[in-house]
Amino acid sequence: MSGDRREFDGIAAVVTGGASGIGLATATLLADRGARVACLDVRPEGLPEPLLGLAADVTDDAGVRAAVAAAADALGGIDVLVNNAGIGAQGTVEANSDEEWHRVLDVNVVGMARVTRAALPHLRASAHAAVVNTCSIAASAGLPQRALYSASKGAVQALTLAMAADHVREGIRVTCVNPGTVDTPWVRRLLDAADDPAGELAALQARQPTGRLVSADEVAAAIAYLASPRAGATTGTVLAVDGGMHGLRLPPA
Ligand code: NAD
Repeated sequence: MSGDRREFDGIAAVVTGGASGIGLATATLLADRGARVACLDVRPEGLPEPLLGLAADVTDDAGVRAAVAAAADALGGIDVLVNNAGIGAQGTVEANSDEEWHRVLDVNVVGMARVTRAALPHLRASAHAAVVNTCSIAASAGLPQRALYSASKGAVQALTLAMAADHVREGIRVTCVNPGTVDTPWVRRLLDAADDPAGELAALQARQPTGRLVSADEVAAAIAYLASPRAGATTGTVLAVDGGMHGLRLPPA
């Protein structure tokens, strides 16, 4: 097996929201490349071997601290943290109640701060410490009907840069990926609930210059690169994995 394929040998990784979609693809890829991996999720049941599932809700500080401690015990430390757990919200700024605003920001933004806070003592002890946050194209482009979600991901991008600055001298790198629309159970649930699922899918595909959805494996590959020792000079970086959605300006088809 080539060196790259085992680049996570000896590395312990925690992936939040690791039981589905992008998180599961990332946890699986890191484990395939040699990492010991724990998935923190509200629904950690049924994860395939060798992934370790730990029940934790990122909005529960005591539960997060207990799960991170359990992960560090089981894995022998934490070198890589992938802050990926997140939930969606639809509509304009008029659509969501205060309760919904607090809930989404609590999961998507404060959740990342909580898990990072709990993991930092372990990351400081690592020679290859990396935090990768799952952000979104919604942080860098105005998407219609996504006011609350976009606000949460804008905060995730800013938090990524701030944490990168705060911890660079401790040898901890912090980066994020900004996916476009990714084919995950989340997106499939949204499509199933749409009036015209086929039309909605076609619209999502057409929105991305590549003309298709991003796969969860493609986002996992980007996260794995950012988390790997190969990316040792990369911190405070936002990596788009969005089918060209952010960077390209094409004439109408
Ligand atoms: P998903 O719904 O398939 O998976 C999300 C996982 O997070 C689930 O296993 C869920 O149980 C877990 N989770 C949800 N709330 C949690 C909480 N409070 N505590 C712990 N775990 C929790 O979703 P996905 O599409 O894989 O999305 C993962 C991340 O990627 C999210 O942060 C999302 O915002 C981001 N993202 C997704 C897309 C997309 O198009 N799918 C695009 C850009 C960014």
